[in-house]
Amino acid sequence: MLDADFFRRWMTATAASVDREADRLTALDSPIGDADHGSNLQRGFRAVRAELEKEAPDTPGGVLTLAGRHLISTVGGASGPLYGTLLRRTGKALGDDAEVSEEQFTQALRAGVDGVMKLGGASAGDKTMIDALVPAVEALGDGFAAARSAAEEGAEATTPLQARKGRASYLGERSKGHQDPGATSSALLIAALVAAAE
Ligand code: ADP
Ligand code: MG
Ligand code: MG
Repeated sequence: MLDADFFRRWMTATAASVDREADRLTALDSPIGDADHGSNLQRGFRAVRAELEKEAPDTPGGVLTLAGRHLISTVGGASGPLYGTLLRRTGKALGDDAEVSEEQFTQALRAGVDGVMKLGGASAGDKTMIDALVPAVEALGDGFAAARSAAEEGAEATTPLQARKGRASYLGERSKGHQDPGATSSALLIAALVAAAE
């Protein structure tokens, strides 16, 4: 079973890896975007970490809805509302149980990813964070490490794609040949589940 502490560790592990990888995320956002993805997420997850230290929600749903709310209010750009929706929807779907099963979490994350797809209008293959998140949810039944591999492969597989959503889509054909920054950060988010479980 997964408790509020697990979800707090998930968020702090994500904040740590976004801190470590911020320059790389921003560099990926430079040829096909506006070179701010790393700093956007760094600001957001630092705020999440600070809030979770101040307030300590005692349910998994409470942790994720708080995190989602703060991402929406502190991250500008496309990724703030999208990541915020992902975590808020996932949190809402977890309800107010003190502990949730991995199966419940998989279902909830699926609802979160559906929320991102509704909000942003992207589907698989559009070269967005969806390309890492959908395979991760599909693999989650086999465990966190399997989800991490699936997300990383999904992110790498965005390289040859032409972007159909977001800022990168303005480049048309020229968006090909670059890994999507949002798919890359989504792979970090999923990889942080493994760290949280250790
Ligand atoms: P901005 O493009 O506003 O500067 P960021 O650089 O923080 O925002 O985030 C860019 C990332 O957001 C992209 O790499 C992509 O993965 C994701 N993204 C952009 N638009 C969408 C969308 N409509 N649906 C899903 N993801 C999107
Ligand atoms: Mg950007
Ligand atoms: Mg921007």
